[in-house]
Amino acid sequence: MSRYYKPGDNVANYHEHKRPYKFKFKVSGCPNDCMNSVQRADFSIIGTWRDDMKVDQDEVKAFVAQKGRKYVVDNVITRCPTQALSLNDDDSLAVDNRNCVRCMHCINVMTKALSPGDDKGVTILIGGKRTLKIGDTMGTVIVPFMKLEKEEDYEGLQEFAENVIDFFAENALEHERIGEAIDRIGLANFLEEVGLDVDPSMVSEPRISSYVRMDDWDEEADKWNERKAA
Ligand code: SF4
Repeated sequence: MSRYYKPGDNVANYHEHKRPYKFKFKVSGCPNDCMNSVQRADFSIIGTWRDDMKVDQDEVKAFVAQKGRKYVVDNVITRCPTQALSLNDDDSLAVDNRNCVRCMHCINVMTKALSPGDDKGVTILIGGKRTLKIGDTMGTVIVPFMKLEKEEDYEGLQEFAENVIDFFAENALEHERIGEAIDRIGLANFLEEVGLDVDPSMVSEPRISSYVRMDDWDEEADKWNERKAA
């Protein structure tokens, strides 16, 4: 049973649950993130997919015929942040799904031709907030993909959220948001506390320095390769 309140519970003694400061959840249905959950939520849940995006090549060709090749190249192909798109000579579209980062841009522009894949789930980010003790922070990807289909998947998400709030209640200083607590304590320690293994898809920010610490790199890489193989 949940240790925390659910909708409909009597919350008369809500404030007896001591936490260092507020903790916001936000849920966005897709990576467009209209809720701004990445920037504004301590716990951000964003709908995504992990199989290939769906492409209707007839609709792609109709779009190219209507808008012209230059428009498609200038506004879709070259605006893919990972260069995962290519327009073929016959006006069909090639998608390198392995390198697609699910930014939604091409899907937003070619609404009839492109749509997300069928294997849907969520990405979870922790630590977004406006300025407080440290400047504005964006959420860090903590769970790259979590399937949300069966009842137990949702229970797993709730259990994970409770672990994160426990971490927050036990480790954050007075008036400190969880992103600041993680910044102070260290991401590796946070992951250990909430029971998550390090994963290369946990993105905090694009790398800006070529000087990186390689402590335990081989060991962590071996663990990740084993998980990937499994
Ligand atoms: S969703 Fe974004 S990253 Fe993926 S192919 Fe489209 S533009 Fe590129």
